[in-house]
Amino acid sequence: LERLYSFMIRLRLPGGLLTPEEWIALHHIAGEHSTGVIKITTRQTVQLHGILKSHIKPTIAAFDKMKLDSIAACGDVNRNVIASAHPKFSEIHEEVFQYADKISYLLLPKTRAYYEVWLDEEKLLEVNEEDKLYQDRYLPRKFKIAIAIPPYNDVDIFTNDVGIIAIIENNKLIGFNISAGGGMGTTHGNPDTYPRLGTVLGYVEKDDLEKVVYDIATTQRDFGNRTDRKTSRLKYTMDRMGVDAFKAEVEKRSGVTFKPAKKAVFTTRDDWYGWQQNHEGLWYYTMFVENGRLLDDEKVQFKKACLDIAESGKAQFRFTANQNLIVGDIKEEDKAFVDEILTRYGVIATTEKASPLRKNALACVALNTCPLALAEAQRYLPSLIDKIDVLMNKHSLQEEGITIRMTGCPNGCARPYISEIGFIGTALGHYNMYLGADANGYRLNKIYKENLDEAAILKELDVLLGSFKAKREEKESFGDFIMREGIV
Ligand code: SF4
Repeated sequence: LERLYSFMIRLRLPGGLLTPEEWIALHHIAGEHSTGVIKITTRQTVQLHGILKSHIKPTIAAFDKMKLDSIAACGDVNRNVIASAHPKFSEIHEEVFQYADKISYLLLPKTRAYYEVWLDEEKLLEVNEEDKLYQDRYLPRKFKIAIAIPPYNDVDIFTNDVGIIAIIENNKLIGFNISAGGGMGTTHGNPDTYPRLGTVLGYVEKDDLEKVVYDIATTQRDFGNRTDRKTSRLKYTMDRMGVDAFKAEVEKRSGVTFKPAKKAVFTTRDDWYGWQQNHEGLWYYTMFVENGRLLDDEKVQFKKACLDIAESGKAQFRFTANQNLIVGDIKEEDKAFVDEILTRYGVIATTEKASPLRKNALACVALNTCPLALAEAQRYLPSLIDKIDVLMNKHSLQEEGITIRMTGCPNGCARPYISEIGFIGTALGHYNMYLGADANGYRLNKIYKENLDEAAILKELDVLLGSFKAKREEKESFGDFIMREGIV
């Protein structure tokens, strides 16, 4: 008897947008072929878990019918290109979204293997498939790209291999600052590994963006470490070469000279929950989806609500890099209709009831589906937040949205090294605790204590939050307080 293997499928969805028709298809595919939970990832896409081996081909075929694919959603290639989801700037967002799409296609592997293996396209074994970018070796490691529209850093721009920062003057997109070399993953006990924030290389005009991004990828392809996967991300390549040498190599290859970076300031990275209206008068509702798990339970029926909205055709669906969902592009006359559905299924109550702490928290999937997990994350963090919320109330800090992120291993999928309080799993029930990142994504945190269990975590936080309440300066964030006090 063959083992009952089950798999996960993640969609490639640049910018995280689904039409109503695509949502309906996703809903039914999730129900027929997976656990039924639609899991929003921190890279603004969705993944379905528990797909049995015999269901893989039908799942991929059903997505393909909607022109959706999972190509390069994993592996040593450019991953899903993410972009600021904030609806307030939709005039700029539309243009930015086009770049997410263009870059995704530019860096897509050219092989037809996906179609041959999964979609029964005629086999072309003898054909030498030319791929100028990936050639015969792909990249040394995964490669992540994000586009941010300041002042919103909802994509955590500096955690990406390439960060593309939209520069807007007089309400027009004029070009981009480019950062490179961000990355979160580390390995327990390996001092050669570290999280790193991207370094801003400079400014490029809109027309030069694709050339520069492409040649950052080719430089990494040719200079990246292929002997040790633990130190093969672009961040290590840049540190080994030196930022100036790396930048000069990209300029030589692309023929584009970086100009001095233009001013771009990020002041928030939260999603803006609830109803927002954009410049064209269209409405957007950002719903809070704890750890990105869209399902129906006794408290809230996310899937029923989204299916009803999708079937009405009155809204588009956009995922955020904070694992939430926006139903948007809703006309004034349709707002009440959508609001009634969101109310009926408990989505609005769930969103409004969650504490700021909970709304700002992120967790990776970890146990029981990620094979690399050493500890729980998404299944455990909600109950830990229940207890931390009690402490927040005790210290009259209940309005503070301190960022908490938890991962089941040091790979860092939920970007824990850039949260004000980070937990990284070391063993079942135990976490290293990190403190001191800022609130807007400019500063990494530092290790505070190792291998804490829940009781120890709560004890530490009780003291730290009490001290924060007593000694904080006006409007000072928790992370800034930690650094000012020299706690880490
Ligand atoms: Fe990523 Fe590690 Fe979490 Fe798995 S356990 S999802 S590899 S951070």
